[in-house]
Amino acid sequence: TIKGQTNSRKPRDELLGGLLTKEFDEESCLSRYHSSLYRKPSPYKPSQYLLSKLRIYEMLHKRCGPGTKAYKEAIKILGHYQNVSRSVGECRYIVWIAVYGLGNRILTLSSLFLHALLTGRIILLDQRTDIRSLFCEPFPGTSWLLPQDFPLTDQLDSFNKNGSHCYGTMLKNNTIKSTIRETVPSYLCLYLIHDYEDHDKMFFCERDQNLIRQVPWLVFNANLYFIPSLWLIPSYQTELSKLFPQKDTVFHHLARYLFHPTNQVWGMITRSYNTYLSRADETLGIQVRVLTKPAGYFQHVMNQILACTKRESLLPEVAATESKVTNTSTRPKLISVLVTSLYPEYSENLRTMYWEGPSSTGDMVQVYQPSQEVYQQTDKRLHDQKALAEIYLLSLTDKLVTSNSSTFGYVAQGLGGLRPWILYKPKNQTAPCVKAISMEPCFLRAPIYGCQAKTVKITRFVRPCEDRLTGLKLV
Ligand code: GDP
Repeated sequence: TIKGQTNSRKPRDELLGGLLTKEFDEESCLSRYHSSLYRKPSPYKPSQYLLSKLRIYEMLHKRCGPGTKAYKEAIKILGHYQNVSRSVGECRYIVWIAVYGLGNRILTLSSLFLHALLTGRIILLDQRTDIRSLFCEPFPGTSWLLPQDFPLTDQLDSFNKNGSHCYGTMLKNNTIKSTIRETVPSYLCLYLIHDYEDHDKMFFCERDQNLIRQVPWLVFNANLYFIPSLWLIPSYQTELSKLFPQKDTVFHHLARYLFHPTNQVWGMITRSYNTYLSRADETLGIQVRVLTKPAGYFQHVMNQILACTKRESLLPEVAATESKVTNTSTRPKLISVLVTSLYPEYSENLRTMYWEGPSSTGDMVQVYQPSQEVYQQTDKRLHDQKALAEIYLLSLTDKLVTSNSSTFGYVAQGLGGLRPWILYKPKNQTAPCVKAISMEPCFLRAPIYGCQAKTVKITRFVRPCEDRLTGLKLV
């Protein structure tokens, strides 16, 4: 049987407390309604206000999405300046460009979606990469994929740092001013990549948001989870508090609403789960991301993982001899450890360790690593599908150890509603790992000066991240 599941195979809370609509055909996307067979019910309930906002969003997306009259009207104005006093129609858009790894992409998409919810826009995804083979459509009766004949498609790759249509560059070059507003451009690029500069960060200022709000098309070239800083924009704070009375659940709810693996990925997830995790009494996920150059296997990282799991009593120790086993319980536990890493050695060493010697408690420790890809190969379909399957599998474990500053781990913890133990950067730390203060992802490059300086100081629910003191996270 599957853990926590009743025999009938009937999902307990199929619609995740009302997050999901019933409007979809189950077969086309099994993960959407089957996740509750594999996941314990979330202790965090979405607010009624969030649910109603999502249903309103779904209607808006149907009205404004690809193929509608409104969409056809909206693409006609691209390239022309818009007089702000003239209404541009009810539909305004956010375009997402796929950049960086999968974790980065998922976090950015969630941020853009929340920005869309707050400002009455809909999001459309650049589909030149393999996004369709990863995720099902989240909105019923329409599509979140940007049509391939979108007029700006050829320009999307030029929306980079210093791109002449990007807001920061335009501010720097004085080709736009956040105060004068008789006309606005029909589209703007927002550059929010980790190396962005002060002008780009003006996106997070109230005054600039007032201007940006008027622009019909916003194209985001972004790889950051910027939701913590949206809370620091005064005019958004009241609405956000209504949407998310529990502030540390933003990503948890958004991710479970938006990201449903396709049937192919779901097959990978369920096969792994049923074979390696479902029978265990306890499961532990360990995500090993090595961000040094060169990356690979390092004994000091292995030692750190062992020190963390020992210190936090996440795994039993290996006894020197059989006679040192102190188990008193009649029924030893089966502990399944799911390791994800580009490199095979970490899980191999762990597995060998528990074979060569007995665990000191008499419990059985089984170690499993689904893939060993060695190199990051973003945009190769099967590679990305494996990455998504592993993120999802990590989110199904009872307890989780993650690597610092890794968006891959952030997504797993948020989906799973887990506060992980974060492995510190191996250096200058006395402890090997620390328990996260919340399950929220870290905004790794948050603006902390400029217009946000004051609110950063006084807002108690936005704090420095455990793994990045200059980053911000919701708690
Ligand atoms: P981050 O770089 O750690 O923040 O995470 P990202 O997901 O944005 O980028 C890392 C990419 O490397 C992933 O999307 C995968 O393509 C690959 N990768 C890194 N770690 C793993 C892993 O444990 N398993 C798999 N399958 N792929 C991984």
